[in-house]
Amino acid sequence: MSSKDWIEKDYYAALGVEKSASSDEIKKSYRKLARESHPDHNPGDPKAEERFKAVSEAYAVLGDEKKRREYDEMRSLFGSGAFRRNARGAGQPGGMPFDVSDLFGGAGGGEARFGGGGLGDLFSSIFTGGGAGGAARPRGPARGRDVETEVALDFPDAVRGVTLPLTLRAPGVCETCHGNGAKPGTQPVACPVCHGAGVTTRNQGSFSFSEPCRNCQGVGTIVEEKCPECHGTGGVTKTRTLNVRFPAGVADGQRIRLAGRGEPGERGGPAGDLFVHVKVRPDELFGRTGDDLTLTVPITFAEAVLGIDLRVPTLDGTVTLRVPPGTPSGRVLRARGKGVVRRDGRAGDLLVTLDVVVPAKLSDEARAALETFAEQTPPAAREHLDARVRRFS
Ligand SMILES: [Zn+2]
Ligand SMILES: [Zn+2]
Repeated sequence: MSSKDWIEKDYYAALGVEKSASSDEIKKSYRKLARESHPDHNPGDPKAEERFKAVSEAYAVLGDEKKRREYDEMRSLFGSGAFRRNARGAGQPGGMPFDVSDLFGGAGGGEARFGGGGLGDLFSSIFTGGGAGGAARPRGPARGRDVETEVALDFPDAVRGVTLPLTLRAPGVCETCHGNGAKPGTQPVACPVCHGAGVTTRNQGSFSFSEPCRNCQGVGTIVEEKCPECHGTGGVTKTRTLNVRFPAGVADGQRIRLAGRGEPGERGGPAGDLFVHVKVRPDELFGRTGDDLTLTVPITFAEAVLGIDLRVPTLDGTVTLRVPPGTPSGRVLRARGKGVVRRDGRAGDLLVTLDVVVPAKLSDEARAALETFAEQTPPAAREHLDARVRRFS
């Protein structure tokens, strides 16, 4: 049983009695109608069953002194369904035009729900100007747009982190009107079309539609005398400089979000966000894989064979790496902690790839020495390939 039922349904009519009927008359009429429409007497007759339900529902209210009083009060308060016949005119609490179908969740049909909430909800939805279905609310001043920009960082800056001034040419809040768009000394006023609700409701048959108010673009307020500086928009184009902190280890292609640093909202609405797309200029020496820095170091064949202590650069200094005798080309040596310092204070490594360089030219002495070396060296182990080679010869 809902308040909506009480407003819509005429229980006196259902029991065929006058509003002034005594409780005895009501009881008598109920017994008679209930007996006539009882499903036991009308097997398989859905109309009778419906009538029986309606009679029972009516008697559950009118047969109870307390409920009957509440029912009578509500019917007199709400004009016994007058809302439906005169959706706009019947009641305008607080001067707010409203549509009873809004109160009951949009569609005016019998399926609309009001139950559960009770009158408290009903009134709060009237006075807050809730639109159809309670879904529409005043939008308020629009949020500012997000702003996107791109910044190119030098490789070491990206690794270590850096704060850079960023100059943006973008709309800013108008200082003359502080963003509300109204001429100084005046204030925006409630929109006369939607009465500040930001939405308007259109009725079409038993349905009603809510849409953003066209007069105020859904803001709920309008500016009568426009600010001369911004012509009522609340914003002006400004050049602004922001100091943006790029954290250590920021990577190429990353996007940094600065909440609230985008365009200011219209007429005092919340600002959008600033998104900074990070480009990292490649370094001529170092590469990067996650938190590790990479470096390729050429060594000679002799160095790979005999071993050497290699002094290599890091981003902040140098480090000495031991290349053990007999190190193959492509071996990766690791200088711990010489990579990107992470937020937790720990650091990645510097990965040094050894690249054995084959000389294109040799001096006569070098060639002679190498030929001697070749004579002294056993052939490379290629036996595992020979069987396959023979198959094709
Ligand atoms: Zn202004
Ligand atoms: Zn409006």
